[in-house]
Amino acid sequence: MKAAVFQGPGRPLEIRTVPDPEPKPSEMVLAVRACGICGSDLHLSEIADTAGGMTPMPAGTVMGHEFAGEVAAVGRAVAGRFRVGDRVTALPFIACGSCAACLDGRGHRCAAVVSTGLGRIPGGYAEYVRVGVHEALALPPEVSDRAGAMVEPLSVGLHAVERAGIRPGEAVLVIGAGPIGLAVSLWARFMGATHVVTSDLSAERADRALAMGATAVVHAAEEGAAAAVKRICGRRAEVVFDCVGVPGSQQLAMDAAPTNGRVVVAGVCMQPDRILPVKAITKELDVRYVFGYGKRDFALTIDMLAARRIDAAPMLSETVSLDAFPAAFEALRTDKRKAKVLLEP
Ligand SMILES: [Zn+2]
Ligand SMILES: [Zn+2]
Repeated sequence: MKAAVFQGPGRPLEIRTVPDPEPKPSEMVLAVRACGICGSDLHLSEIADTAGGMTPMPAGTVMGHEFAGEVAAVGRAVAGRFRVGDRVTALPFIACGSCAACLDGRGHRCAAVVSTGLGRIPGGYAEYVRVGVHEALALPPEVSDRAGAMVEPLSVGLHAVERAGIRPGEAVLVIGAGPIGLAVSLWARFMGATHVVTSDLSAERADRALAMGATAVVHAAEEGAAAAVKRICGRRAEVVFDCVGVPGSQQLAMDAAPTNGRVVVAGVCMQPDRILPVKAITKELDVRYVFGYGKRDFALTIDMLAARRIDAAPMLSETVSLDAFPAAFEALRTDKRKAKVLLEP
């Protein structure tokens, strides 16, 4: 099959022919219909040493962990649960399926988990991808392949919003309107926030949040987010999300939060960062970190998409073919106006 293969930090992906995936007994192979580019793939592909706490990805990796596809082959232990032709998405890892964490739908905490698209199991920047039956979820006809590929980033946002414990009537500030900031905006409003103010340095990106649930946006190049929230809400936001994840963004969130506020760090910073603890201490801030999602987050996202209670479409900026994919991937490093770009192999 053809795949977009990582060549090493600082080098563009290359389209290569690689071995076709074969399903193990409790696995399936999907024909990829859509696969999103994740910001963390862009970051990971730039990492050349362990200084930021991450291990560099080996050359030869096929990335891509936000995909939907059609079942093309099933392992012998899958029989009866899925069939060739079924449309599915899957959590991007394969776990044991029988430990307490797996049975609770939190396979990313399984001792035997192997992630997809980070080196060991080739990901969805390809014609086919291998997934685990325990991690797969059927897509109903109402959920398109494109929406199916956006279940993963929407689930990231859902898990972050769950961690925030938003109560009806609260005001929320979302710093950053990339795909995760957009997903957080959507779910924060869904969960009952009265104000969802989303800020981004790119006015184009910020404005997209209005279609995803934000009640107001801030063009951060022109006005500081904290000042804008006070102007719009008449107070500070009880919950502040850092959906940027660069050095300084966590401090920005802490500075914008009120006394006893909650800060949720959803942006993944892969470099050393400096914060001023005293700013969080004197406000007695509750700072919560998030990682991944559970199978229930995927299930609720699919259910709400099917019921038309949420819409992923405003998150999509562009779709590209496999041949055009390496250039589109490189372009995203510098173009900070776009939201989700999907590969359609
Ligand atoms: Zn991702
Ligand atoms: Zn397990």
